[in-house]
Amino acid sequence: MIEFSERVEQVSISGIREVFEAAGEDAINLGLGQPDFPTPEHAREAAVEAIRAGKADAYTSNKGTLELREAIAAKHARDNDLEVDPADIIATSGGSEALHIALEAHVDQDEEVVFPDPGFVSYEALTHLAGGQPKPVGLREDLTLDPAAVEDAITDDTAAFVVNSPANPTGAVQSPEDMREFARIADEHDVLCISDEVYEHQVFEGEHRSPAEFSEAGNVVVVNACSKAYSMTGWRLGWVTGPNDRIERMLRVHQYAQACASAPAQFAAEAALSGPQDPVAEMRDAFEERRDVLLDGLAEMGLECPTPKGAFYAMPKVPEGWVEAVIDRGVVVVPGDAFGERGAGYARISYATDMETLKEAIDIMAEATDAVR
Ligand code: PLP
Repeated sequence: MIEFSERVEQVSISGIREVFEAAGEDAINLGLGQPDFPTPEHAREAAVEAIRAGKADAYTSNKGTLELREAIAAKHARDNDLEVDPADIIATSGGSEALHIALEAHVDQDEEVVFPDPGFVSYEALTHLAGGQPKPVGLREDLTLDPAAVEDAITDDTAAFVVNSPANPTGAVQSPEDMREFARIADEHDVLCISDEVYEHQVFEGEHRSPAEFSEAGNVVVVNACSKAYSMTGWRLGWVTGPNDRIERMLRVHQYAQACASAPAQFAAEAALSGPQDPVAEMRDAFEERRDVLLDGLAEMGLECPTPKGAFYAMPKVPEGWVEAVIDRGVVVVPGDAFGERGAGYARISYATDMETLKEAIDIMAEATDAVR
């Protein structure tokens, strides 16, 4: 019998999928991590044109087309006040691959990776796949990650820590002061900070700042993607940027695992990033309106929910049996412990669905709340 690798045996398929499958086809799905908007037309058109002109048939440069990387560099100058050389960018298959190659390139066998708990499911799984040891840390009452907790968790065996703002599953947004602290911690402890910024455009309160702005030692790499900003989850286009020596190491993993990101997706992403940005603002505004309606609904149910200041998720504390009662009534939400041990007693509600459906779901959640009280 051929044995499976220990690394892969430590990983299981995300609990989120199991919830979807259990709920059935007619359920209202508030479990999804993708915007319910179409990809902007100009991005779709750019891909179609590139395909028709035969420009998307071949491998691109491993790092991605120069035009795409220039568009990404211009985006960082425009949105993040960051000067990035197109040579220091790798276009990846979504933010997921960017996280993967960042960890592969920096984590040695049994080295620790610190990340938020509850946090995005990939951090733990990708740490295992890189041979590392996951070190989840709990959050503050408002569900933000405390830099002091990260600093306490760092030991001589720590290779990296992950910061995710705005955050999945909590919707929490870290303050600029926190981001400055994360950069200081990365620099002082000589540990890599992986900043996952895929929800950067969905901020309703506060502002998005990147720890990369504050690091002096080049110990921050930024992971981002078109997925959430432009509703392009199916296109699979993300990127990672950081100091050149780190990018060149990550490229070794990317080159052999991926060769290059999908060429049609690269053309679509270039157009999305450099074309009109109104769709981004329109989505943000729609999410904010829905968030407010959802928060009012949760308050009426008497459920305590730290105000999510970004992304498109809310994470209320819920009574025992609540998630099951809601799912039984045909609304899919994700149990908090799918995102880490400390997520137990919470549920993640995604409001990436139209207002009418959301209101219908809120009524059903209220019914379920009454039933389990
Ligand atoms: N980072 C976070 C926090 C996410 O929530 C997700 C997707 O849900 C990703 C990264 C991966 O995004 P992509 O679809 O670009 O791979």
